[in-house]
Amino acid sequence: MKYLIVGGVAGGATTAARLRRIDEKSEIIIFERGEYISYANCGLPYYIGNTITERNNLFVQTPESFGKRFNTDVRTLSEVIAINRANKEITVKDIRTGNTYIEKYDKLILSPGAEPVKPQLPGINQEGIFTLRNVPDTDKIKKFIEEKQPRHAVVVGAGFIGLEMAENLHKAGLKVTIIEMAEQVMTPLDYSMAALVHQHLKTKNVEFYLKTSVSSFSKVNDRIQVKLNSSKTIDTDLVVLSIGVRPESHLAKEAGLEIGETGGIVVNEFLQTSDNDIYALGDAIEFVNPVTGSKMITYLAVPTNKQARIVADNIIFGNNKKYKGSINTAIAKVFDITIASTGVSGKLLGKLKIPHIDSITHSSSHAGYYPGAVPMTIKISFSPDDGRLLGAQIVGFDGVDKRIDIFSLAIQNRMTVYDLADIEHAYAPPYSSAKDPVNIAGMVAENILKGITKPVSWREISTFNEKEHFLLDVRTPDEFKLGTIEGAINIPLDELRYHLDEIPKNKKIIVFCGVGLRGHVACRILSQHGFNEVFNLSGGLKTYETASQKQSNEDIFANDYIGHDDHIYQGSKADSHIKTIVTEKIKDIDACGLQCPGPILKLKNSIDEISAGETIRIKATDPGFFKDIKAWTNVTGNELIELTQNGAEITAIIRKNQPLQQNTLYQGGKNATLICFSDDLDKALATFVIANGAVASGKKVTIFFTFWGLNVIKRHNKPSIKKDFFGKMFGMMLPNSSKKLGLSKLNMGGIGSKMMRMVMKNKNIDSLENMIKTAINNGVELVACQMSMDVMGVKAEELIDGVQIGGVATYLERTENANLNLFV
Ligand code: FAD
Repeated sequence: MKYLIVGGVAGGATTAARLRRIDEKSEIIIFERGEYISYANCGLPYYIGNTITERNNLFVQTPESFGKRFNTDVRTLSEVIAINRANKEITVKDIRTGNTYIEKYDKLILSPGAEPVKPQLPGINQEGIFTLRNVPDTDKIKKFIEEKQPRHAVVVGAGFIGLEMAENLHKAGLKVTIIEMAEQVMTPLDYSMAALVHQHLKTKNVEFYLKTSVSSFSKVNDRIQVKLNSSKTIDTDLVVLSIGVRPESHLAKEAGLEIGETGGIVVNEFLQTSDNDIYALGDAIEFVNPVTGSKMITYLAVPTNKQARIVADNIIFGNNKKYKGSINTAIAKVFDITIASTGVSGKLLGKLKIPHIDSITHSSSHAGYYPGAVPMTIKISFSPDDGRLLGAQIVGFDGVDKRIDIFSLAIQNRMTVYDLADIEHAYAPPYSSAKDPVNIAGMVAENILKGITKPVSWREISTFNEKEHFLLDVRTPDEFKLGTIEGAINIPLDELRYHLDEIPKNKKIIVFCGVGLRGHVACRILSQHGFNEVFNLSGGLKTYETASQKQSNEDIFANDYIGHDDHIYQGSKADSHIKTIVTEKIKDIDACGLQCPGPILKLKNSIDEISAGETIRIKATDPGFFKDIKAWTNVTGNELIELTQNGAEITAIIRKNQPLQQNTLYQGGKNATLICFSDDLDKALATFVIANGAVASGKKVTIFFTFWGLNVIKRHNKPSIKKDFFGKMFGMMLPNSSKKLGLSKLNMGGIGSKMMRMVMKNKNIDSLENMIKTAINNGVELVACQMSMDVMGVKAEELIDGVQIGGVATYLERTENANLNLFV
């Protein structure tokens, strides 16, 4: 028998090796268009980033070594340009000479792979713009970096390879900007999981634009100018296009083999094409996805290798081995995190209208009390009918690989979430917990299926309204102070049983905590006390916050400049590199392994034990700590001296604030008073920005709300109140809470204020409501003018908690001790 193989890398070389191992006598010829065979394409990005330092290590075999070991005729630089099926022969072009010749076959195997998509954009073919598929592409990029010493790179496309390239270019010393057309990186992930990747990229100083495409490239002053569809331009030195790949199926198509709707070569379950003597495998074939039942192409090395064994066995033993299809199990390292997915994402299931339930859980990689435990977020999708697992995604720092493989096995074997809850795993503290994250994911899903807990997703929160929903934050008051969901009421879990009468029975109760666990316990308490419509926010505040904050990371290099030492520095020259030097003794705290809010609570307790001016260094591994610590120091007025991240470990140095010295030269007070007269949103914001700023600088602040200003401090959920005619009229005509305030200019019937709130949210600026909460928590005194209340028929019950009612005497008394008085 004579076997000809087109393509000599993953699929081709593996098929040849298996063929030879079973059949010593047959003739095997591999035709490879390139110079190399059987190399590690998956390792190419790591060679560019110098993680793999030896180029030779990329080659699993050379043509000579492979030929010798497997007694195979390996013909590199040989392109198969035609297949004559009737005569069972192929035409081969020798790329060195340009000559062509014919070769006969008994069986032909096609493993031609996939080619990178390169859209015909203006300027795309100029120097410095690359795609990455094979060793020569890698050599070109590596040479360019070595010779031209580029400072900045643009990666177009944020799939697995795009992100691996971003990391490796960063590692090679370049600043990196990613341009991605979708609203998220890594399309196999659901948005809430991709959001974790976005936030991680931000901590690594990677600039990235989402929902943005490239419209052209041009040469400007020896650099490449990348023009975006937004008309913005980015000047760079190197571009890697990682937009996607498509199957190299043109040879098969020209030979009249059936090509599917996805553009891949159609094969049957024995991996046989529409011609019985031609088999095909790898990136070039389409096959039915066992979960969705739809045809698709899998661009992954693992299925290719499995297919190679099946093809070889079917050729030699007759068609007796069936390919079951790939469920797209994939994994990637992106800086310090590992991202993995298997099966089908929630969003694709939704698109295909396959009924499913999603559930998000946050766990630790191993027992929290054993050093080195790091967080891991798992999202699973399962059938509401029988609990069959349909998909799983994980983002974490450690132990992601073994969990995703369990999920993969479960999906391949049509297992259910009940099975996940039961899986017996190996456990000792350094490796897992008595309930592994996989078990936890299964148990939560089981609770959902049995109706013990009802989940809501972070997306649903934005559709809630105060009339029908009651948002209950069951975290501690300290956590609540650090930030919550707008409109949430705080009743800590341990207090819940004593405050049941404060929770409305006629509304849907949406409960949340940090990650979902305390929320679940609270839901159970409420359900068993007669609350019927109780829902737990899936993934808790962690998922909500990660997914609802600003995702992209634009313009971070805008203020960069080149220093005298020829390095690029971030920020303006004026403010760069001024670092507070810590000379005092530092108290060390280890909060590694603790999940939110553990690190903050541990810090708070430790700060309480030291004196002002003393310093604490805390280490934590909860990724939310990076953001929380900034908020916490802002809220408490302590000084964040240094914040760094190394791998999963975040280190913060905090100095407990010194009490401010009394200014002995100034005889008046040092406090601040503000009169809030207006109910314009912008003026109310200005009032609270100043108040919070003044309180942070050590002032005691009083805000006096008079006339229209009273509308700023009306509560959202007002009890029904008996009012006289004028009171009712004012009530109807005026904004009934801070949420209804308009802008003083460009309000446009309320559109202006909505836009203002949206812009503030996108820029991570606190809403007015959160600013008010922060002010109250920081001790800002809110005084409502009694006289204005009487005139306007405003009752005390209508005002938010924490507001005092006072007259002009109160205000004047406060101004006596103030050196700042403002009328807004
Ligand atoms: P290939 O391995 O690409 O081999 C096809 C070969 O056929 C090519 O060398 C081509 O030159 C040759 N050829 C095509 N047409 C002809 C012709 N007419 N005549 C002669 N020769 C021809 N997958 C993972 O699972 N994990 C990873 O981490 C991962 N990382 C990757 C990183 C990079 C940079 C790349 C490019 C791919 C990565 N992949 C990864 C994907 C994986 O490499 C592919 O799924 C796998 O190589 C597909 O095998 P294949 O045999 O179909 O194609």
